[in-house]
Amino acid sequence: KTKSAFDLREAIRQVENLLSQQFKLQQIEVKHHQVSDRQPMPPLIGYPNEFKQVILNLLNNAKDAIEAKRKHEGHQPGTIEVTVEFHQPDRFHVTIADNAGGIPAEAMEKLFTPYFTTKEDGTGIGLSLCRTIIEDHFAGSIEARNTSTGAQFIIELRNP
Ligand code: ADP
Ligand code: MG
Repeated sequence: KTKSAFDLREAIRQVENLLSQQFKLQQIEVKHHQVSDRQPMPPLIGYPNEFKQVILNLLNNAKDAIEAKRKHEGHQPGTIEVTVEFHQPDRFHVTIADNAGGIPAEAMEKLFTPYFTTKEDGTGIGLSLCRTIIEDHFAGSIEARNTSTGAQFIIELRNP
């Protein structure tokens, strides 16, 4: 595990590249937004590989949710919105939102519990690992909520 200063947006782009072929095939559009109190946006000091693992899990979950919705309701536009924010003096927010209908109330309570899954071939490891990484490696937090169109995961991180 190596600690270094890294650009959150660059780390996210690298993960997106890994998935880009699949997103293209499934016609899932990824949109990017950024908000920064400082130009250029400062780097985050932390663990880039662990951060990328979190983003990979969240993008895969969004993709699974879009696929599941299409399976029930037929093909419809699939969109994932990724927002990176920096707020003075040291706070970052990364938000990953999809338009796949959201998380049912019963699932919301157990989302981050190890082995909780609603998928036939799921492991239920992804979100529990995300929370462990964000809390233990970054002293940050991760939360889920529903928007009017889908699920939204909000990560808060701070530079040490
Ligand atoms: P897995 O992907 O193996 O099921 P996770 O820990 O990654 O395990 O996710 C746990 C559960 O949380 C999923 O099975 C699903 O029910 C729910 N979930 C996660 N992300 C989303 C999302 N974007 N939309 C709807 N439900 C979600
Ligand atoms: Mg998962």
